Amino acid sequence: MTSSQFCRSLPKSPRWEAAQILPLPAPQPLGPGQRSETIRRANLAAIVTEVHRHGALSRSEIVTRTGLTRGTIRGLIGELTHLGLVSEGSVAALGTPGRPSSLVEPRRLGAVVLGIEIAVDSVAVAVAVVGFGGKVLGTVRLDRPRGRTSVDLTISDLFEIVEGLLERTGTREALVGIGVGVNGIVRRSDGMVHLAPNLDWREVPLGELLAEALGSTVPLIVANDADLGALAEHRRGAAVLADNVVYLTGEVGVGGGVIVDGRPLCGVAGYAGEVGHMPVNPDGVACHCGSFGCLETEIGEGALLVRAGHAASDGRSAVDRLLVEAAVGVPAALSALETTGRWLGVGLATLINVFNPEVVVLGGLFGRLYPFVAASMEAELDRRALPPSRERVRIVQSELGGDATLIGAAELAFEPLLSDPIQWTQSRVAPSIPRAI
Ligand SMILES: [Zn+2]
Repeated sequence: MTSSQFCRSLPKSPRWEAAQILPLPAPQPLGPGQRSETIRRANLAAIVTEVHRHGALSRSEIVTRTGLTRGTIRGLIGELTHLGLVSEGSVAALGTPGRPSSLVEPRRLGAVVLGIEIAVDSVAVAVAVVGFGGKVLGTVRLDRPRGRTSVDLTISDLFEIVEGLLERTGTREALVGIGVGVNGIVRRSDGMVHLAPNLDWREVPLGELLAEALGSTVPLIVANDADLGALAEHRRGAAVLADNVVYLTGEVGVGGGVIVDGRPLCGVAGYAGEVGHMPVNPDGVACHCGSFGCLETEIGEGALLVRAGHAASDGRSAVDRLLVEAAVGVPAALSALETTGRWLGVGLATLINVFNPEVVVLGGLFGRLYPFVAASMEAELDRRALPPSRERVRIVQSELGGDATLIGAAELAFEPLLSDPIQWTQSRVAPSIPRAI
């Protein structure tokens, strides 16, 4: 996958949504100079993306992964070295005779991003500083008291954490982007949070407010937390080798993200992947989204607890007790989990039939429930999913667990750099850079 395939942040134009249905202007022929510059930028982006995602690579591996010639990458790597994004040093242990190949390694302080998570179930905010290549350089998670979820207080808390973290890690000058994950319906183009019910936020221009509060001029992109979880598992977690992925997560609410052909599925404005609000039960109960019988009302934390005789609001500690009861064979707990597993199978059968994924990653509540619900979920999938799709899919637990959104936010923040390192460097580096084709 190339970075240009990625569903990036859209320009901050209020007319963008209308503009994108207009026919594109006819492409103008490029002159030889423009063509060579376009190719050079694309080649640099390809190398930067590979080194960021995979870590140290030999020149031979870069040739294989990018399809570029050895001669081409020589100059480009020199350019990236000069820019401080990569270094070449230790020699790759090839294990075969022939000329040794030096390793091209990401310089983690060559560019850093901030990943920010505004969580709802724990009412926490978390910030990570992540270096080029994906190394987490520092993290702060602040558990906040219930009631401290207003927009102003959230931004104030984040400001304090960000300032402290940038200072402590000495990374302020290397900052190239900020990614923010929030549990809500988010417009990617400008970071408008239309609705975050568990925070009681409506029409909050979070992108604008945060950029202003942090006083930052680097790109700041806001996205749905489950979409970022999907991105993180695809880039760094349980679905690294898969290009077609469905990610399902949740606690009180149920969210998801979908990767299709290596690209996050965003929809026209960034709202795609709200699998928790997929209607599954015509006789189901009311959902906070305004509909009823949504997948969330059948497999969310509240539904599980009510089935086991608890109050829906008893929360995560009650789920933990329920799992302990199930482990020792308490019938009410086993029955509640069996029913939840069946509804999980119903929802996943639809997603598998529609998206034909290689991997389904279960995060959050569903990662924890998996050992207890696997049998009833699989049985439902056997009954409902189309056999050719069912046979190809693996269902796995999240590898990144509670860090998925934060890591996904950081990956999103790296996207502008990965898709056009030259644009980034031109704003940061004096124009005396040796060029290569
Ligand atoms: Zn709903």
